[in-house]
Amino acid sequence: MDLLVVGSGFFGLTIAERAAASGRKVTVIDRRPHIGGNAYSEDEPTTGIEVHRYGAHLFHTSNPGVWEYVNRFTTFTDYVHRVYTNHKGVVFPLPINLGTINQFFQAAYSPDEARALVHELAGEFDAKDAANLEEKGIALIGRPLYEAFIRDYTAKQWQTDPKDLPAEIISRLPVRYTYDNRYFNDTWEGLPTDGYTAWLERMADHPNIEVRLGTDFFDDSQPFHKTATVGQLPVVYTGPVDRYFDYAEGALSWRTLDFEQEVLDVGDFQGTSVMNYADADVPYTRIHEFKHFHPERADRHPSDKTVIMREFSRFATREDEPYYPVNTPDDRAGLVAYRELAKGEQGVLFGGRLGTYQYLDMHMAIGSALSMWNNQLA
Ligand code: FAD
Ligand code: UDP
Repeated sequence: MDLLVVGSGFFGLTIAERAAASGRKVTVIDRRPHIGGNAYSEDEPTTGIEVHRYGAHLFHTSNPGVWEYVNRFTTFTDYVHRVYTNHKGVVFPLPINLGTINQFFQAAYSPDEARALVHELAGEFDAKDAANLEEKGIALIGRPLYEAFIRDYTAKQWQTDPKDLPAEIISRLPVRYTYDNRYFNDTWEGLPTDGYTAWLERMADHPNIEVRLGTDFFDDSQPFHKTATVGQLPVVYTGPVDRYFDYAEGALSWRTLDFEQEVLDVGDFQGTSVMNYADADVPYTRIHEFKHFHPERADRHPSDKTVIMREFSRFATREDEPYYPVNTPDDRAGLVAYRELAKGEQGVLFGGRLGTYQYLDMHMAIGSALSMWNNQLA
């Protein structure tokens, strides 16, 4: 074995695939019973509808290198993601666009009129100087729209005062003064034609790659554990960085999600793939309805059944799956300390969403793994 990869998510599999293609022998371990990390999906057995086990995953990128790379393993459908949100029992289009603004104010503003109104309502805040999510949100869309669509949704999702959250979280959502309600701005977008798991399995399908599932890096009873491998051969670690160092600099805060899945005896529950719930009195943040991700599979889907999943968000304990870095000022100080420790860890490279404590979309995880391979490992 030339390389050990801890974690079989997109970051770990990209490293493994590149190493295998260049003739190296790689072992990939994952503590979960399946490959693919959070992008894993499987068919719901009674309906055959593909369910994204860890929440809806939409692939999108503007990076030509990443787009070329991912197309080696899968083709993509022409799915375009659109999200709606329910506020006080009325459905509005997202991201905030001219349609949302006009529906909210029961008006017919032109783009310039809407811009002027938002500028006036944003009052005290300027997007350039916004120090946190609340200031940025108000600067971008004005206080009334912020309070209707962002404030309570964000509080449900992060359980953190928006004043303590970084402004970048909200910068991911475009604000448009047209009726364009595409959720993403990227050049390429789509869903893997044969599903995520087929794509992930193709990445691992190489005689030089051995995948061992149900194998925890910190479990001394298995042969690829930390003390047996670090210093003996190169290791790429994509688990949580604070766990690697036994929380020596304190635990970084993460958010986890609980999913409640239901098979319903209706052909169509909500008419779209993702409906957000903006208000504080609804305990979940959104409902996914998976058949809408693949309209091209309509002839394979039952016409009288559908699969929905309600998503609930809360702080992660050490026993939970860490999904999103919360990134409060304390976390950012802790991360600086962990980065120093990571630099001193000979023969171990830290990558991926958990290993770098960073929000990474799939294309970013793949892009940064390709860079790590080209610049540090190859
Ligand atoms: P992961 O996929 O988390 O993989 C890390 C792996 O390491 C896991 O399989 C884990 O079991 C394993 N591991 C951890 N500790 C150990 C250990 N001690 N021993 C062995 N194995 C270990 N991206 C998009 O582009 N579009 C989306 O719409 C999107 N939606 C998302 C929705 C949710 C709810 C979440 C959580 C993420 C979403 N993402 C989305 C991001 C996407 O999941 C990540 O970019 C991608 O999974 C990153 O891959 P990764 O390899 O860094 O991490
Ligand atoms: N957001 C919001 N209301 C919405 C959708 C998003 O306030 O209806 C905010 C929220 O703070 C969220 C951020 O915008 O964390 C980014 O949204 P995105 O849909 O990218 O979140 P994700 O899919 O990563 O959970």
